[in-house]
Amino acid sequence: MNSENLYGFIKNCKWCGKAFQNKYSNICPECAKKDEDYFQRVRTYLRDYPGSKIDEVEQMTDVSRKRITRYLREGRIELVEANGALTCLKCGNPIKSGLYCDTCFKEHKDSLKSIYATSHSSEDYSGEMHLYKGDRIKNKHKRD
Ligand SMILES: [Zn+2]
Ligand SMILES: [Zn+2]
Repeated sequence: MNSENLYGFIKNCKWCGKAFQNKYSNICPECAKKDEDYFQRVRTYLRDYPGSKIDEVEQMTDVSRKRITRYLREGRIELVEANGALTCLKCGNPIKSGLYCDTCFKEHKDSLKSIYATSHSSEDYSGEMHLYKGDRIKNKHKRD
């Protein structure tokens, strides 16, 4: 039994700070479960009330705007109209979901591909918070 190896798997949850053991995730199972519950709540609300504004959804579902925005950035939910609640990280044009408008996405397809792959991998699950602020993308470009 190698206790050193085992210890290596113990990390602090990026969201709640609690220690947990998982090689592949940066958030603990409880937070992951909670996040999924929140997501289902938002999705159900949007199914029943399509076209709701983020403010309404936040109020009615009690899910924070930040979280809702992350779901949008992840492409898990989509705005009915590009009403400016979500904007392209590159040019600032209103978009319905994801990170970039179609134009920027096409122009930078190759460099964006890797970012999309990152944002959808479970290993880097908590990275979306940073994605949302845009600093992860800067890092990514620097590295590339
Ligand atoms: Zn946690
Ligand atoms: Zn754009």
